[in-house]
Amino acid sequence: MFFETHDYKVEKKAFEDNLLIVLTFLFASYICDMAGIYVHIPFCRQRCTYCDFHFSTTFSSYRFDMVKAICTEIEVRKNDLAGKQLQTIYFGGGTPSLLSEDELVLILDTIHANVEVTPNAEVTLEANPDDITQEQLEVWKQHGVNRLSIGIQSFRKQDLEWMNRAHSVGEAMNCIQLAQSAGFDNLTVDLMYGLPDLSTEEWEEQILTVVNNGVRHISAYCLTIEEKTALHHWVKSGRLTTPDEDVQSEQFMQLLKTLEAHGYEQYEVSNFAKPGSRAVHNSNYWKGEWYLGIGPSAHSFNGTSRRWNVSNNITYIKGIQSGNHAFEIEELSTENQFNERLLTGLRTVYGVEREQLRSIREFPDDFESRLEQLKDAGWITDENGWIYTTKEGKLRADYIASELFC
Ligand code: SF4
Repeated sequence: MFFETHDYKVEKKAFEDNLLIVLTFLFASYICDMAGIYVHIPFCRQRCTYCDFHFSTTFSSYRFDMVKAICTEIEVRKNDLAGKQLQTIYFGGGTPSLLSEDELVLILDTIHANVEVTPNAEVTLEANPDDITQEQLEVWKQHGVNRLSIGIQSFRKQDLEWMNRAHSVGEAMNCIQLAQSAGFDNLTVDLMYGLPDLSTEEWEEQILTVVNNGVRHISAYCLTIEEKTALHHWVKSGRLTTPDEDVQSEQFMQLLKTLEAHGYEQYEVSNFAKPGSRAVHNSNYWKGEWYLGIGPSAHSFNGTSRRWNVSNNITYIKGIQSGNHAFEIEELSTENQFNERLLTGLRTVYGVEREQLRSIREFPDDFESRLEQLKDAGWITDENGWIYTTKEGKLRADYIASELFC
């Protein structure tokens, strides 16, 4: 007798969903080009000690002006995506899970009214565990959010305290099952390693907590000490000590080992997915697809230039209101385009297509000999017109890319 286990059903559903997405994507690719939209929500409940993203914790007086400015920017810049269909919508921040239902709906309606969105588009919302409630989940689901990126970072009380995270261990533990019960199968969880006093055994327990909860996508980052953060000050003054590089590398290797043993594929240096659960939005970044970045500090890319909005909420709002948008733009030289394609492609399983590189510019004279050396070292494979990093190569992907730069 054959029983459909829970795992089997989840795998089967993921396969069917994936097949549908692939067919939709192939059809949509046939009729037009794809792009993504990133909406930056620059509000946070409190300041995490390690964070140098753009956000504000004092926003109540202008939050609606910000949402209106975001909608206006979408309307004004819709032609930046002329001829493109949106395959992905991504709410990042900051803390998008702080948006009220009305605010979320207003932004989503503005996107749909101005840009063609593919059926079954991936719609991701970054959510912090303390915002994940039954009611919120229903609201997100009802309005088309179909993927949640949960910023758990750690399940240890002492970490959440020194990080100044707004959530508790209990909220971190409960939010995954709460989201799954509400029908969110497409979840990703962010975790951090290389934390003060975190042993490699404890790190493995953290990974297994996510794995055993059936989460099919995990992003894991080593703690980095960014300037102008409280953490930077504490480490400099000796108040907090972070592990040395050997421990960080050991924890990274543990991450690879544990996740591989549980059927996750490392499809980007810091991103791991079960079959059918890769992030479409981030994958498109790494493949060099176009994206439109909306909101303060958001970055956009159109193949040949990068543009980034001012990282100041009031300046951003005033700029949008007055029609003098505050942003900078950089036209990428062919060398820069070539190097960026290598840098992003070689960090992923997608690799880099020789033809695409050649369409940007001719290979440098010694490119093939440099490539040979990397192949001899066992870090690169080069087959059927595509260049990839091997598993070993992925550990030093940035270095390898820099060896091949123009
Ligand atoms: S919630 Fe996220 S964006 Fe906000 S301060 Fe913390 S880490 Fe930074």
